[in-house]
Amino acid sequence: MDIKKVRLEDISKTERPTLGDEVPVEVFRLLRIIGMYSILGEGSGYTLYLAGKELGVEFDVNTVEELAKLLKKLKIGILTVVESSDDRIVVRVDECITCAGLPDIGKMICHFEGGIIAGALEKILKRPTKGVQTRSHTSGFDHCEFHIHLL
Ligand SMILES: [Zn+2]
Repeated sequence: MDIKKVRLEDISKTERPTLGDEVPVEVFRLLRIIGMYSILGEGSGYTLYLAGKELGVEFDVNTVEELAKLLKKLKIGILTVVESSDDRIVVRVDECITCAGLPDIGKMICHFEGGIIAGALEKILKRPTKGVQTRSHTSGFDHCEFHIHLL
């Protein structure tokens, strides 16, 4: 059998006349948190970050405003820029798809989202980036925060 890769533009094609194109956040989290950790193991953070980054650079966005609009449309989260300098952009994400409402477990788990934002900013700013998560619901905050270093 000829195995083909599902491309990014194919992902949004859904044929679900009864169920529609949305799923509950719980289902997403089952796959995203429990599924991916059990497949990739505890060291999955960096792999997920890279996967997110690969996705983010493919986003059809040219400005930070467009990125914020897309993340809201995809219901990934509400992005705002907290601080911006020549070598770093600090962004806040409210209502994060992965962690909003989860308890403080003493670690941050939104590597995928950090990768998406770092990848999209790399494309927008035409500069290599490295994203580091600094706040999360799962580390005791009421929002997520990422430091995107411009390299
Ligand atoms: Zn989060």
